[in-house]
Amino acid sequence: MGADGGTIATRSDMVRTKDLDERPDYDAGERRHALWTLCRLSKHPLEAPVMADALGQLYNKDSLLEYLLKRGAAGASETEQRVAGHIRGLRDATSITLTKNPAPQRDEDGTQYYPYACPLTGRPMNGKHNFVYLRCGCVFSETGLRNVAAPKKGNDERAECPQCSAPFSAVFEPRDIECDITWINPSPETQSIRRDLLATRKKRKARTDDKARDSRARPARPARPAKATGDDHDHGHEHAPDATSAESVHAAQTQTAENPKEPTVHTG
Ligand SMILES: [Zn+2]
Repeated sequence: MGADGGTIATRSDMVRTKDLDERPDYDAGERRHALWTLCRLSKHPLEAPVMADALGQLYNKDSLLEYLLKRGAAGASETEQRVAGHIRGLRDATSITLTKNPAPQRDEDGTQYYPYACPLTGRPMNGKHNFVYLRCGCVFSETGLRNVAAPKKGNDERAECPQCSAPFSAVFEPRDIECDITWINPSPETQSIRRDLLATRKKRKARTDDKARDSRARPARPARPAKATGDDHDHGHEHAPDATSAESVHAAQTQTAENPKEPTVHTG
């Protein structure tokens, strides 16, 4: 932290570098307010563009970018690593669209202010209602989304986002990381299960990538230059004569240069 180099950490620096778990001075209300209105990394108020990760944690995009740069240079703090260590690039988070709370509410004690709400039900995003986001980035209260996107008939789970019409699978399963619906700030238990699943998926992917690399490294069958890459066979045939003629032209040129049999090349 700022201890070396003679800088003095201010109280607000301390607050910003600590994660919620490291703030025993926070009461439940302060903790809830921080979870639902502040960037998890910078502790600045959430302001568009906002991103959410697979654990349902919220970030300001610029703070996430800053973290990724620091991480690349091995300069991210332990706390930051603990919060966002599973994020390796922007693709590991989703840009989300938060809806302004039409009647911005203060908490019962009048001190905490919640600026976002569900566009379907108007419920404030204050940690007292479950909220979810879809792959398209639209954010709803769970109740609101269930009301409009409950599977219509049988086990048909296909649904359309009520805000942007993007198709999604209406499977409401908070602990399944493959689902299209992700809970924002779910329970610590759910978050921990999702964290483990993400780690398992990463390991599995790394193994698959290794295998793919091994098979690429092995000597393959001789390449066939006339073979088109796509599965469109007509194009394959169209390309074949081109490739062949290009090769024969090149071969002819090489041969001419190496064996100047033509009398015209003599210059004197
Ligand atoms: Zn949407």
